[in-house]
Amino acid sequence: MPATVRGVIARSKGEPVEMVPVVVPDPGPGEVVVDVRACGVCHTDLHYREGAINDDFPFLLGHEAAGHVSAVGEGVTHLSPGDFVVLAWRAPCGACRSCRRGRPWYCFDSANARQPMTLEDGTALSPALGIGAFCEKTLVAAGQAVLVDPEARPEAVGLIGCGIMAGYGAAVNTGGVATGDAVAVIGCGGVGDAAIAASSIAGARMVIAVDVDDRKLEWARRFGATHTVNSASTDPVEAIRALTDGNGADVVVEAVGRPETYRQAFFARDLAGTLVQVGVPDPTMTVELPLIELFGRGGALKSSWYGDCLPTRDFPRLVDLYRKGRLDLDGFVSETIPLEGVEEAFARMQRGEVLRSVVVID
Ligand SMILES: [Zn+2]
Ligand SMILES: [Zn+2]
Repeated sequence: MPATVRGVIARSKGEPVEMVPVVVPDPGPGEVVVDVRACGVCHTDLHYREGAINDDFPFLLGHEAAGHVSAVGEGVTHLSPGDFVVLAWRAPCGACRSCRRGRPWYCFDSANARQPMTLEDGTALSPALGIGAFCEKTLVAAGQAVLVDPEARPEAVGLIGCGIMAGYGAAVNTGGVATGDAVAVIGCGGVGDAAIAASSIAGARMVIAVDVDDRKLEWARRFGATHTVNSASTDPVEAIRALTDGNGADVVVEAVGRPETYRQAFFARDLAGTLVQVGVPDPTMTVELPLIELFGRGGALKSSWYGDCLPTRDFPRLVDLYRKGRLDLDGFVSETIPLEGVEEAFARMQRGEVLRSVVVID
């Protein structure tokens, strides 16, 4: 029988979010219903509310979640009720042109649930990033539910489902950070700090954190930054060169998504260095660079989509690092809040007061 549960929706552009009854159908073939235990509040949820992603209102928000499988649909063999899972917004299809090229981490046709979750009047909801987890239950494709260690704390490991994986993978999967590298990370929110933690774990000899907010630079040190640069008062390109014998960093992760920070990342690289853009830009933004510098500096300019991750490979690895005390996921959880607290959490996020507010559902 379909369940009617509480969920947080964005009904129309720019309006405060609302908590409403949400109807979650029984899982169909290849689908599972998950009892959500925890879900982080991410900038992307706010972008949905502001109409910056698309106009498919109403949205069921929330997408950085962990929970327990409560029901499985026909043909689902790898999950059972009670399993502890982190939800992913990439579930490689195995059949698209990227999967067929052996690159499932770019999958162009990732699976989502086929049936909609709805309002009580039958209006279909658009789940944020195909998840919709600011809700007591959510319906996803079975491939989106990734089994992880059941001993892990839901409010910490749920964050792997988006921001942590994006930042971690930007450094390690996309940027290929390796032992002895000098790394710079521009933008020290949740994604940037995850890139810093990943670089540190991967053996970088130096991890330079760049931000305009001294409080965020303090936090960055907790995750493994060896040096910090406040780019409001110091030219970050000059500072990064000065820290690297005048050369620049081997890998620069741009975790802001703005033309000026992209240019900083471009020029802060060593020759043949790698730039990884993981910050999501506004559709109106453009960047201009001298073509001779593009050629002459060589290296690689890459974009990182969701940390170029394979959730079934990478989520359990990150949970393992967390359980061993090497990846401080608890450090990303600034506060836990009830479902009713999402709107206020957006305001704290915009003021830069938190790394992550995490909704906890008992
Ligand atoms: Zn695919
Ligand atoms: Zn997110």
